[in-house]
Amino acid sequence: MQTLLTVLMFCICFQQLKRNIPAYLAASWRASPCVFRSSKSELAPKLDSDGVVYAPLQTFTEEETMLKNMVKKFAQERVAPLVQKMDENSKMEDSVIKGLFEQGLMSIELGEEYGGTAASFFSVILVVEELAKVDPAVALLCELQNTLTNRLFTTYGTEEQKRTYLPKVSKDTIGSFCLSEAGSGSDAFSLKTRAEKKGDYYIINGSKMWISLAEHAGVFFVMANTDPASGYRGITCFIVDRNTEGLHIGKKEDKLGIRASSTCPVTFENVKVPATNILGQVGQGYKYAIGMLNGGRIGIAAQMLGLAQGCFDHTIPYTKERVQFGKSIFDFQGMQHQIAQVATQLEAARLLTYNAARLAETGKPFIKEASMAKYYAAEVATLTTSKCIEWMGGVGYTKNYPIEKYYRDCKIGTIYEGTSNIQLSTIAKSLAQEY
Ligand SMILES: Cc1cc2nc3c(=O)[nH]c(=O)nc-3n(C[C@H](O)[C@H](O)[C@H](O)COP(=O)(O)OP(=O)(O)OC[C@H]3O[C@@H](n4cnc5c(N)ncnc54)[C@H](O)[C@@H]3O)c2cc1C
Repeated sequence: MQTLLTVLMFCICFQQLKRNIPAYLAASWRASPCVFRSSKSELAPKLDSDGVVYAPLQTFTEEETMLKNMVKKFAQERVAPLVQKMDENSKMEDSVIKGLFEQGLMSIELGEEYGGTAASFFSVILVVEELAKVDPAVALLCELQNTLTNRLFTTYGTEEQKRTYLPKVSKDTIGSFCLSEAGSGSDAFSLKTRAEKKGDYYIINGSKMWISLAEHAGVFFVMANTDPASGYRGITCFIVDRNTEGLHIGKKEDKLGIRASSTCPVTFENVKVPATNILGQVGQGYKYAIGMLNGGRIGIAAQMLGLAQGCFDHTIPYTKERVQFGKSIFDFQGMQHQIAQVATQLEAARLLTYNAARLAETGKPFIKEASMAKYYAAEVATLTTSKCIEWMGGVGYTKNYPIEKYYRDCKIGTIYEGTSNIQLSTIAKSLAQEY
């Protein structure tokens, strides 16, 4: 009788508890049961072989759909359980890096002859979006490798450079892009790092700042001026291996967000590199940097889009389960209108991003669209994450849930690969030519 009473009491207490605390709270950092909504809007692929059809932007090829689903599974199973720890420790887990390489996600567009997946640029965007839903820091690692490192080698590398580096970057070697310096951020081409020619090699001296992935990188693209008298036309891109004498990686920054992605100063003290390590042509580095960053901005837009969607997908189920004034908070019109506005802006950011990616991969002009996508996706990520915290109330403000992390992570979208102001200037420059 006593036992029966205890069980009965437990059941009553449990029911009360369930009524007050949404079930969703029990699995705070785990994926929402309906993650991720955005994936459900995809349609059966109906692209022609040459890719020219009139189809909704969210139409994916069979290959893209498969890759997207594979990444979603990888992110849920291999990344999600480590996100909080990596954020707290400011450290990317080796198993995550290894997993990205093993799954072919670090060499999405590279040809099979180099160990790559030979998929499309659009696939890169889908992969970055999926990863960012779970961890924007991991998404950045994948984004930079695919849109900068691999593309720099494939677009400008000699056959010898491709043979040497592409099998490495698809297997286990991370690349890092060294452009920014303490005195040159938005005004990137006023950089002070110098490379002096000495016969058939160059000596590099200077200091770079804010270099993403430097902690783990095996190879660095270093923008240095070989002819300061020519201004930015002297900027040349050098390939420098991590173990080269005189290359020092400084202490990583203690950042607000994307903490698992390392950001370090990198200095070059009489670093000797053979002339054969020049990427492309002497004095063309500024063109390569602009060219790569234009495409990279679509990748950052995808990162911001995935981040915002991931945050939204975590939050909405909570609003449906959380009861106040006797009904679900989702059912208040004041909430529904806000949620609908954010969902609409998310959709608009997705369409801008996908459109820029499709333009880029079909060889059409995309610079204005890439800037629009990056600018807008960063704005939407900022709005979404901020609103999600408000909608979750007090619990959204704690570290028991991933929402505050998304809120911290999103800010970088307005800064790197060109600040929001720089994107607006690029858009305005295009408009000035159009009118
Ligand atoms: C986490 C992180 C990772 C990064 N990773 C890399 C990397 O891997 N490689 C790399 O080379 N760099 C990297 N960067 C550097 C990044 O690209 C620069 O921080 C960025 O370009 C802005 O430069 P800045 O910080 O010097 O800001 P500033 O250029 O000083 O800008 C400060 C403010 O002034 C505004 N501003 C500047 N010029 C203008 C203008 N002409 N018109 C209107 N407004 C203007 C900006 O919009 C901004 O709001 C990274 C930075 C961070 C924080």
